[in-house]
Amino acid sequence: MLTFDKVSKHYKTADGTVKALDAFSLTIDAGAFAVIKGPSGCGKSTLLLQAGGMLRPTEGSVSVNGQDLYALSNRERGDFRREHIGFVFQMFHLLPYLTVRENALLSAPTKASEVDGLLERLGLSERQHHLPSALSAGEKQRTAIARALLPEPALVLADEPTGNLDPENAALVMQYLADYQRAGGTVVLVTHGTDGDQFATRSINLRGGTLETDRHAP
Ligand code: ADP
Ligand code: MG
Repeated sequence: MLTFDKVSKHYKTADGTVKALDAFSLTIDAGAFAVIKGPSGCGKSTLLLQAGGMLRPTEGSVSVNGQDLYALSNRERGDFRREHIGFVFQMFHLLPYLTVRENALLSAPTKASEVDGLLERLGLSERQHHLPSALSAGEKQRTAIARALLPEPALVLADEPTGNLDPENAALVMQYLADYQRAGGTVVLVTHGTDGDQFATRSINLRGGTLETDRHAP
């Protein structure tokens, strides 16, 4: 489903080159709930952005469903991403001038008939005509989850999605991701906390841009 083949990422900065990932290889099977942890700066976000088609590796290849993402043109990669990949960010990344419903529909404008049910399940029906500025953090992230899941992507990538949430909303967000995986999706979660552990079928620890440990759930 998701394959990293000898991926390196070097960022050029004023102080020199930062090696965020170093010959990193990993395969995550379809249907997994993979939890990735590691200290700040170990390359978690770099890895996830690359998996999402948003950051080209310096070396190596990243494939989703057998498609080498960076062999595609920018336009083809954008199309592929919209069809196959949902992304949830720690800071929500909602468009401030669109309502909850409009933000959710951004990812799949033709799914107007499905969006209401999804917003209902996420507890957002009453909020659907509000702008993000009128929402709590939990409501913002649930809106972002709606946007990520509406196209029914095969792969959902979430980068510390509960980092700005209270415990109750963090648990809700985790449960939605777990439900999506149980329904057949593949989820890759980056987190600091332990909130994804109970759902993990795969637990991966990164350190300094390389794999430290990699465990399949018993
Ligand atoms: P994590 O998400 O695990 O905290 P990141 O993937 O964000 O780690 O970062 C890995 C390393 O790459 C860190 O040393 C970070 O400072 C560096 N880095 C990340 N993004 C950039 C960038 N755009 N430019 C330069 N260095 C970066
Ligand atoms: Mg990060």
